[in-house]
Amino acid sequence: MKLFDVYPLYDVEPINAYDCIVVDKNGIEYLDMYGGHAVISVGHSHPHYVKKLKEQIEKIGFYSNAVQNSLQSRLAKKLGELSGYDEYQLFLCNSGAEANENALKLASFYTGKSRVIAFNNGFHGRTSAAVATTDNTKIISPLNAQQDVTFLPLNEIELVKTELEKGDVCAVIVEPIQGVGGLDEGTTEFFTALETLCHEFGAVLILDEVQSGFGRSGKFFAHQYHGITPDIISIAKGMGNGFPIGGIMIAPHIEPNYGMLGTTFGGNHLACIAALSVLEVIETENLIDNTRLTGEYFLSQVQQIPGLQKVKGKGLMLGLEFDFEVSELRKKMIYDEHIFTGGAMNKKLLRILPPLTIGRKEIDQFIKALHNVLVEEKVGL
Ligand code: PLP
Repeated sequence: MKLFDVYPLYDVEPINAYDCIVVDKNGIEYLDMYGGHAVISVGHSHPHYVKKLKEQIEKIGFYSNAVQNSLQSRLAKKLGELSGYDEYQLFLCNSGAEANENALKLASFYTGKSRVIAFNNGFHGRTSAAVATTDNTKIISPLNAQQDVTFLPLNEIELVKTELEKGDVCAVIVEPIQGVGGLDEGTTEFFTALETLCHEFGAVLILDEVQSGFGRSGKFFAHQYHGITPDIISIAKGMGNGFPIGGIMIAPHIEPNYGMLGTTFGGNHLACIAALSVLEVIETENLIDNTRLTGEYFLSQVQQIPGLQKVKGKGLMLGLEFDFEVSELRKKMIYDEHIFTGGAMNKKLLRILPPLTIGRKEIDQFIKALHNVLVEEKVGL
């Protein structure tokens, strides 16, 4: 059987990796400035993470959610402590799309309504193709086919108000920093007003922190820059450092009942130990401080890059906007400079999402390489 060919692939096969370095089958080392879509948080093959996973698989890797699994409670406790959301409740699943699917389902149960407000260029996963379009503006999913979604421009609070006033909205879902869509952000004024309006009209405010969470923005959650408290927070990606795990953190006023949500694999022993050891490393190695400081250093150094129009994002969730499409630049960065970077729906944006362990030395290497490709090889100039 051949593979279903849905991904255009670079001709590189990583077979080994450590910290910010990925090694291909020919022994070539690459600097990972992309972390496999913001997934690698504590660095590839972190020794603590590897040790904990090995110890766990030798004991038990999986049993169903019909029996007790104290690793889930240990994970919930640690996550509550580090994120500042001690009083919230945790439901575990396997990916970001699933996290959002559960968040929307829960919002619908809680409010008895079904319409959803989302924002142009928002991205929330792909478990349903129903509302995935290719015009690059409305690719929100996993909203199920029956769920009516209204897309609005970010930061247009009056338009949100007009929709909420109609009284049929169960949830507003928003990324604090847009990922795939291209690093646009709501302002603090917008998020604060959004929170107030959701309370006023009884809609659930869902912050999709799948990409921006777990320290990537320089705070545990990126919405914490705005002083708001969402009703539901969705999480995944950096949570497992490559082990598939996702979840939603649910405010105390949303009460559970049996059968409301469910999953076969979610919260299994291996996934829990992966996420728990990620949190332990984030804490012991002060990775959130490192993210903030290294992000600041990146910003100070990147200003010298020729042709750069704009730098977007926070911490180590960054986008470099050029006045040309970056696909050629990305190819040169991989094949000539041996550095992984990312693209976005905005084809002029180079996305930077390295492991949170990265330091100044690697940033200097990246800046030098980018300079080489732009100036020496004259890509885009
Ligand atoms: N939400 C956001 C903000 C994302 O960036 C992504 C993936 O890129 C998802 C949800 C979907 O996550 P997954 O691919 O794990 O289903």
